[in-house]
Amino acid sequence: MDGAPSVHQGRDEVFIGGRWRPAVSGQRIDVVDPATELVIGQVPAGGPQDVDEAVAAARAALPAWAATPPERRAAVLSAARDLMAARREDVAATVGAELGAPPPFAAAVHTDLPTAVMGSYAALAADRPFEERIGNSRVLHEPVGVVGAITPWNYPLHQIVAKVAPALAAGCTVVLKPAEDTPLVAQLFAGILDEAGLPAGVFNLVTGLGPVAGQALAEHPGVDLVSFTGSTAVGRQIGAAAGGAVKRVALELGGKSANVILPGADLAKAVNVGVANVFANSGQTCSAWTRMLVDDARYDEAVELATAAAAKYRPGDRIGPLVNAKQRERVRGYIRSGIEEGARVAAGGPEEPEGIPTGYYVRPTVFADVRPEMTIAQEEIFGPVVVLIRYRDEEDALRIANGTVYGLAGAVWAADEDTAVAFARRMDTGQVDINGGRFNPLAPFGGYKQSGVGRELGPHGLSEYLQTKSLQF
Ligand code: NAD
Repeated sequence: MDGAPSVHQGRDEVFIGGRWRPAVSGQRIDVVDPATELVIGQVPAGGPQDVDEAVAAARAALPAWAATPPERRAAVLSAARDLMAARREDVAATVGAELGAPPPFAAAVHTDLPTAVMGSYAALAADRPFEERIGNSRVLHEPVGVVGAITPWNYPLHQIVAKVAPALAAGCTVVLKPAEDTPLVAQLFAGILDEAGLPAGVFNLVTGLGPVAGQALAEHPGVDLVSFTGSTAVGRQIGAAAGGAVKRVALELGGKSANVILPGADLAKAVNVGVANVFANSGQTCSAWTRMLVDDARYDEAVELATAAAAKYRPGDRIGPLVNAKQRERVRGYIRSGIEEGARVAAGGPEEPEGIPTGYYVRPTVFADVRPEMTIAQEEIFGPVVVLIRYRDEEDALRIANGTVYGLAGAVWAADEDTAVAFARRMDTGQVDINGGRFNPLAPFGGYKQSGVGRELGPHGLSEYLQTKSLQF
């Protein structure tokens, strides 16, 4: 490798049946760097005809890929993992530019994490988890078929790999519609899969707008499973359509996760890690611990600690912009609603950050005196905003923690693990970090309640793309 990393500027083509070709519409989508507000590339705006052709290509490629020995599928995924690692700098530069992520975060999280997930599915496929014996039956785990994958912009490559890698490992074929804000890394990824030796038609990429290309894919009768990550509003629509068509659906939707700090926990650590968790990726993380729950006795101290922690996040330095102007206005609107409903701004606020000439930045914000029923304590803000809510006792904390429509993630801090685990068992949520925890790319990730349907990552993620057939003897 030589020279500086290069940002992929986009090619004016969709990838269908192993071939790049222009989209039928001839229209394009501009890709903007949210830090500079400058156009950095263009991709085609695919439509229903492109989706039709991509689904047909995926259908045609399905029998041969489904019948390919798992070790061979694993070898292709492993080659893709190696190429992702070899292109680390270019991938990180491209995600960094289209999302506005600071370089260290773009490399360590937006690139290395999906590379590890790709490697994990190469290993899982090689393990041949595709058959088991139950009594006098052989149970076969067969690919579901053609997968329509629709992904958001917040972790552009991770969201793609978390769907495409298990689908390919399972023997499914895929049509991907990535987010219109961050399609460049999706094109890089298509090139990587092609170079890794994936047969033509097994993976297809149609960039385009959600209500056009996305909807055409979600409602396509030739798609056997729709896997969607994004807003609850669109997820509900996709789930309803899939239900009507009696087809499989996986939905990863929003969250409003609680960071529960129990009496006896290390308060400074819990608050500092909690603030960092929310401000990572400029708050654009569905599993972020956006509600910090602290007992009455230590509430004021927690507010002070959170305010001091927030002061270390200067926009443009440690914390990037939001993905686009619409998200910035949405987040500022939520901050204003918090003030109107009587919460106290301890850090940040709705004003423009100072000294930043361009970019969709907001002030990293800490709210105190937040009541559980306030809008900022109920709705997903998707920006760097953390709210501190006080509780009286453990029962009160549990009631508040479980008191939203969401249940994606969360954290519990306590003096000892047993106390934290006992509390975590009573939380209505899909993933809980105990006293800080450590990210595990093999652990199932997904929602209780309105946070979604299905699980991603590891063996549980693989099983989403499998259907079972039993042979009785
Ligand atoms: P979105 O749901 O509109 O977009 C997600 C994906 O769905 C994109 O690829 C988009 O093109 C596609 N899409 C949009 N409309 C569609 C339709 N009618 N049919 C099929 N596909 C469609 O999300 P957004 O507008 O980009 O973000 C809005 C909010 O969603 C955020 O503020 C946040 O609360 C939430 N969100 C959650 C996640 C998550 O990881 N759970 C990720 C991104 C956004």
